[in-house]
Amino acid sequence: MNSSKWLMAGALCLASFTGAAYAQAKDTAKTLPKVVVLSTGGTIAGESRSSTDTTNYTAGQRSGDQLVKAVPEIAKVADVEVEQVVNISSPNMQYSHLLALSKAANKYLADPSVSGVVITHGTSTAEETALFMDLTVKSSKPVIVVGAMRPATAISADGPFNLLQAIALAVHPSARDRGALLVSNDRISSAMYVSKTNTQSLDTFQAAEQGHLGLMVGTKPYFYFTPASVPGKPYFDVSKTENLPKVEILYGYIENDAGMLDHLVGTGTKGVVVAGPGNSSLSKAMVEKITKLQADGYPVVRATRVGAGIVTPKKEGIAAGFYNPQKARLLLALAINEGADLKKTQNYFLPD
Ligand code: ASP
Repeated sequence: MNSSKWLMAGALCLASFTGAAYAQAKDTAKTLPKVVVLSTGGTIAGESRSSTDTTNYTAGQRSGDQLVKAVPEIAKVADVEVEQVVNISSPNMQYSHLLALSKAANKYLADPSVSGVVITHGTSTAEETALFMDLTVKSSKPVIVVGAMRPATAISADGPFNLLQAIALAVHPSARDRGALLVSNDRISSAMYVSKTNTQSLDTFQAAEQGHLGLMVGTKPYFYFTPASVPGKPYFDVSKTENLPKVEILYGYIENDAGMLDHLVGTGTKGVVVAGPGNSSLSKAMVEKITKLQADGYPVVRATRVGAGIVTPKKEGIAAGFYNPQKARLLLALAINEGADLKKTQNYFLPD
């Protein structure tokens, strides 16, 4: 046998050993709590030809089933059922996927035999899906979003441990009544506040103002506080929703062409979020346009490009409060879909 054949035989041996180890561990798992893994792709399911490539890989190559089976330790903490919702790189997520995930999570969590739901996801837009779950899933049981910064083929891939921790957290009673959570790099974060802050680092998920909720030590969660909820957090019932309105984000900067706002409104956009500078202080031209749109009941949300801090109300537009632009976009879409007027929408973003 030449050396590459030896390598292949070794890899096959290892794969069947891993599969056997998983099956054996699962055999003893009959009385374990049940977790449903909703799999969507991302880097955690990504593959590359090179074990040192952490940027030019292809996301969404492995199934959720493969991800779970690759970690035999999972079978010791939960009885896992996998539903493959989609297998894509997360910038390709669409409203239809978010709605499917929300409906599936609500359905599974209503089943008394299910302890929690885990969503495997690309990190690029994980915060958006996590927030959507936070606003649309009604259950005291946990929904946990998890991803990875390194593809499954990388040396020291972070996905397997992240997935094990997410599943261990999903069955732990201390994870209940905290809204949707995100687990990454040993940290537990709130879906409401967490954001991806670094394109490369494993320590990418942060909430600059609010921090993390707790941490994972191996498979054991340690929360810093007992459950708390976000003041005035709205809930939207999307059980009958098939689609959501088109909402776009405009970046704010010096010499902003305010005509872009007209373009968006004229091309069927139902609401706009502006990622403005500072406390979303916009140019005179933008303020004038927003004021006119507002008089017609058209929603423009002032969010910030800064990455931390609150956006407070001014005369023009709807203040995003603590929602970053990409999260503000989803909340605005849900509010428009519900038929909320500007005042009610403002109250969703920043309750009195
Ligand atoms: N492109 C990937 C995705 O978001 C990046 C990641 O998973 O981190 O699906």
